Amino acid sequence: ISGATITAGSIDMLSQHFPLCMQNLHRELRKNSHLKHFSRLQYTLFLKGLGLSLEECIIFWRKSFKLITDEKFQKEYRYNIRHAYGDVGGDANRRGRGYTPYSCQKILTEALPGAGQSHGCPYRTFSPDNLISLLQATGVSDREVLKNVREDVGKQRYHIACNRVFESTHKNEIRKVKDQSLWSASELDTILHPNTYFKRSFLLKN
Ligand code: SF4
Repeated sequence: ISGATITAGSIDMLSQHFPLCMQNLHRELRKNSHLKHFSRLQYTLFLKGLGLSLEECIIFWRKSFKLITDEKFQKEYRYNIRHAYGDVGGDANRRGRGYTPYSCQKILTEALPGAGQSHGCPYRTFSPDNLISLLQATGVSDREVLKNVREDVGKQRYHIACNRVFESTHKNEIRKVKDQSLWSASELDTILHPNTYFKRSFLLKN
């Protein structure tokens, strides 16, 4: 998948390949037509990591924030998106590059979201019941997997739970690339980054 094929309009369709942290942000954005600062930052950097251009990313947010005026968007939101991409501000190091998309480790070790905030890793930030409901809403129905996820998060093994869900929702595709030796073992290593989750899911399903 190349940057040229990803536009603001393709994010809804691509979101089926997102890990739970980003699916949650996408769902909240669509539900409320808004996300708070840290959620926007986490999501913007992930979208940047997907290869979404700065111009398309601005279009994506402008269209998603349906309830605000152009003037408010220009004044309060546009700058932060450009900043994340390194188009404005930052020190000389970051100029032109901006910020790096967050890894699981970064997302899993940051302060817990407060009321009304949606950033972070749902395997860590959600109560087990809410987590299971969210997983079911995103199409994870295997009862054994859901039971194991509950156990994982009880032992604070958030990241193992996430990989377990990936393996379950891609089991046929993984079996195929293994059986036909299409992928090397390292290409199926434990996922440690939301952008790796996306990329692997996209490649396996297409
Ligand atoms: Fe996202 Fe990583 Fe948490 Fe999975 S383990 S939901 S990829 S932060």
